[in-house]
Amino acid sequence: MRYLPIHVDTQNARILVVGGGAAAEAKLRTLLRTEAEIMLVSKEVSGEISRWIGQGRIHHMARDFHGNDLEGVALVYAATEDDAVNHDIAALARAASIPVNAADQKDACSFITPALVDRAPVTISIGTEGTSPGLARAIKSDLETRLPSTVGALAIKTQTLRAKIKSIMPDLADRQRFWARIFDGKDLDSHLKLDETGLETRVEHALDHPDADQGGSVVLVGAGPGNPDLLTFAARKALHSADVIVYDRLVSQEVLDLGRREAEYIYVGKQPGGHSTRQDRINDILIEKAQAGLYVIRLKSGDPLIFGRADEELDALEAAQVPTSIIPGITSAASAAAEIGASLTTRGKNKAISLLTGHDAEGFAEQDWKSLAAEDARAAVYMGVGASRFIQGRLLLHGANHSRPVCVVENASRSNQIIVQTTLGALPDDLQARGIKGPAILLIGYSLRGADASALPKVKNA
Ligand code: SAH
Repeated sequence: MRYLPIHVDTQNARILVVGGGAAAEAKLRTLLRTEAEIMLVSKEVSGEISRWIGQGRIHHMARDFHGNDLEGVALVYAATEDDAVNHDIAALARAASIPVNAADQKDACSFITPALVDRAPVTISIGTEGTSPGLARAIKSDLETRLPSTVGALAIKTQTLRAKIKSIMPDLADRQRFWARIFDGKDLDSHLKLDETGLETRVEHALDHPDADQGGSVVLVGAGPGNPDLLTFAARKALHSADVIVYDRLVSQEVLDLGRREAEYIYVGKQPGGHSTRQDRINDILIEKAQAGLYVIRLKSGDPLIFGRADEELDALEAAQVPTSIIPGITSAASAAAEIGASLTTRGKNKAISLLTGHDAEGFAEQDWKSLAAEDARAAVYMGVGASRFIQGRLLLHGANHSRPVCVVENASRSNQIIVQTTLGALPDDLQARGIKGPAILLIGYSLRGADASALPKVKNA
C-alpha cells in the first residue's frame, strides 16, 4: 500500500483550488460537501462554478495564481487546464509542505483523491492508487446502491448512545464487546434497516439481557488452497466477524488479509525449522478464547475435514461444551484437478479416487498398495513430496507401471503455482529436479489436459 487513506478535518480549514474548468469543477463538487472555506483562483470559470460563486459558497479571485495564495492553506488542488502550470503550483506547494493534488499528474501529487461514497458521517473512500479510476467508480456505484441514506443517521444515533453505555461500562473492552454484539458483523442488512428507535430497542434489550448470546463459539473454516477467490461466501463472512483467528502455516496471507482487522491472530503452524504447536495446546487456545465469550475462527487450509485433525479439535470443544460449527472449503486435490483440467472420476475409467496422506503419525504412511497399484486406480496424495520415493517404490513393487502418469501441482491456485507432469517411474527425480518442496498434491493416474504423453515430463508455471 503506497497511499495511506486518512480523513482530513475540514472544519475551520481553508482549501485552495486553482483552475476554473472541468478538472476544477470535479474537485469542487466534492469539496463543497465539506466544511472547508474554499478559495478559488482562476481568471475564467465554468458556468457551474460561477453559479457556486454566486451562491457565496466559494471565495473567488479572478486572476492568475501567485505564490502568496498558498498562505494559510491546508490543502491545494492544482486543477488548471494547463499541465505545466499545475506542475509548477504543485512544486511550490510541496516546497511549502502543503499537501497538494495536481490534476492528472500522479507523480506531482502528495495526495490523490479517492472515489467516495458519502453518507456522512459514514464515508467510504475507494482508492486504486491511481491504477484504475474506472474500477473504483464501479465499486463505488455498487456500494451506493447497497448503503441506504439512513446509515449516517444510524451512526449519529449510535454516538449519542455511546455516552450512555460508557457511563454504564467504564471498561473499554466491555464496551467494544457490547457494540460488537449490537453490530455483530454477521448481518449487515439488519443493521442497515435499523432506524433510531430500532437501535434504541436493540441496545436496551442487550443491556437487559447481558448474558444472552454472550457465549463464544468456534467455527472450523476451510481456507481453501490459498487463492482468496476460492473461499466460500460463508468463510468470508466468518472472517469479517471473527474476534480471534487461529490459523495454520498453509493458510495464505491473502486469505488472512480478509480477516477482521481488530481480530486477534494466533499462528499455530510449524515454526520454520521448528515444531508444530502441539494439538492439545491448540485445543486449549480454542476453548479458552471461546469461553471468554469470543467468536473464534479456526482456519485450516483446504477443507478442514481432510487431513486437518478436525475431529481432535471437535472432540475437545464438545467436551468443553463450546458450541462449534464447520464451514467446508475447497480441498487442494479439487483445486489441483481444476488447475490441470482433469476430471477426478471418468466414466468407464475409474469409479473411485483415494485421498491419501504421504505421512502419518508413524512416518511414511502405509496404504493398501495392492489396490492402488491396479491399472484403473487413481489417487490424490497430500503431504506426498517427501514421501514420493517411498510411494513410488511401494507402487512399483506391487506391479504398477513405470509409465503411469503422475501430475503434481505445487501451490495450487496461488500465483506461484507450478505443475509438473511426470510418470511414476520418474516421479521423485523430477520433483527434485524441479525443486518442488510443497505444498503439493500428487495426482496419480492423471495428466495435465492436453499433455502429450510422449513428451513427458512437462512443466507448466501458471
Ligand atoms: N485440509 C487440507 C489438507 C491439509 S494437509 C486440504 O483439504 O487441502 C497439508 C497438505 O495439503 C499439503 O502437504 C499439500 O499436500 C496439500 N496442500 C495444501 N494447500 C495446497 C496447495 N495450495 N496446493 C497443493 N497442495 C496443497
